Amino acid sequence: MTEKSYAEQDLQAVVSQYLAIRERVENACVRAGRRVEEVTLVGVTKTVEAPLINAALDAGLTAIGENRVQEYLSKKDDLHLDGVARYLIGHLQTNKVRAVVGEVDMIQSVDSLRLAAAIDRVSAEKGIITPVLVEVNIGDEVSKDGISADNAQELLCQMADFSHISVQGLMTIPPISDTEAKKRYYFSKMHQLFIDIQSKKIDNISMNVLSMGMSDDFEEAIAEGSTMVRVGTAIFGRRFYPV
Ligand SMILES: *Cc1c(COP(=O)(O)O)cnc(C)c1O
Repeated sequence: MTEKSYAEQDLQAVVSQYLAIRERVENACVRAGRRVEEVTLVGVTKTVEAPLINAALDAGLTAIGENRVQEYLSKKDDLHLDGVARYLIGHLQTNKVRAVVGEVDMIQSVDSLRLAAAIDRVSAEKGIITPVLVEVNIGDEVSKDGISADNAQELLCQMADFSHISVQGLMTIPPISDTEAKKRYYFSKMHQLFIDIQSKKIDNISMNVLSMGMSDDFEEAIAEGSTMVRVGTAIFGRRFYPV
């Protein structure tokens, strides 16, 4: 990828935004009576160029999330990724599975048996086990990816048979809500589903990661039990084209 050069003040802006969000994440943990280590802050780096991402990584960001396989592959060599967790968080088409398996530490957006089977098959060929999350469409929105809450458990039971994927938990993007009460409603519903599935103790399925909360709602998500927040805009600034 051709690198645009950035003014020192642009890099500094990302660093101070990252540090401010990290502090808000920690404060939200404290308010919720939770340990700060319980919640991972993932910097969502879609559309963001390498110098800005590296500014946040050099300042201590430990995990990044990308939406598109090709975009991630084209910029990864320019990133300071030593010891950094890399997550695919966007919708994944079956024909992109081969390109991404082995390139990221977790695929957070598995929402069908067909996709899970493809990840399992390619992982087996590559001799690895791929950690995944199941994406739940908690608001049952037609416009969104993700399996419905009602069907999540059945999908998990089917996925338990795959030996080259390792389910770690759940991910969601809830409906956009304008009040704190509405935001918390969906996060709380999601947390309940997470706890319910955890209590079923399905063989080969771990329920340790609950990935929910973005720039506008990560504090509410932490209050309702999120273990991983995915923050883009609030760290890297407004994106100039949608993903
Ligand atoms: C873009 C994106 C985010 C981050 O959204 P912001 O509002 O910019 O924080 C989080 N999760 C997913 C799946 C995304 O696509």
